Amino acid sequence: MEVYPGSMFSGKTTALIQRVEKLNYTDIPYKVFQPLINERDENVASRLGFEIEAIKVKDAEGFLSHITDKDLVVAFDEAHFPIPGLCSAVSGLLLLKKNIIIAGLDTDYRGEPFPQMDYFMRHADYVTKMNAVCAVCGGTARRTQRLIDGKPAPYDSPIILVGDKELYEPRCIHHHDVPGKPS
Ligand SMILES: [Zn+2]
Repeated sequence: MEVYPGSMFSGKTTALIQRVEKLNYTDIPYKVFQPLINERDENVASRLGFEIEAIKVKDAEGFLSHITDKDLVVAFDEAHFPIPGLCSAVSGLLLLKKNIIIAGLDTDYRGEPFPQMDYFMRHADYVTKMNAVCAVCGGTARRTQRLIDGKPAPYDSPIILVGDKELYEPRCIHHHDVPGKPS
């Protein structure tokens, strides 16, 4: 299993797509998945304009129902979104010798871990950490800053809030600001 964790705007979906696209030079059957709750697009769409078809799923049963004996590679984008049973479904696929590729946010807007991604990283053969560029200082950004009306969102906001550049920007740890975060 290969995992690409990182902040928003770190190129993790692009990394997943580039990894999967190489399979088109082979006859190896593969499938790409995305959580249904991500309404951003019909396909896995990276910001660089690469696109690849993805099946949207909302639970582990739906996910597993699309995977056949023939599929040798299974990719899952935005794998931080909570999907009931996804961790054990992926573990089961690993036992069946499927090759798994995962991309997703490692931490939420508060800088706290997304448990599913923690699980995948722990079971990965390779973890390629993806970083963005801090929107304030241009340094290495591994955090996602949520902004509401241009102001840092407080610690008690909802963990999942689907949005793009209007709501989020990459920040380094020095410029990441979460008012009300316990120290
Ligand atoms: Zn910075």
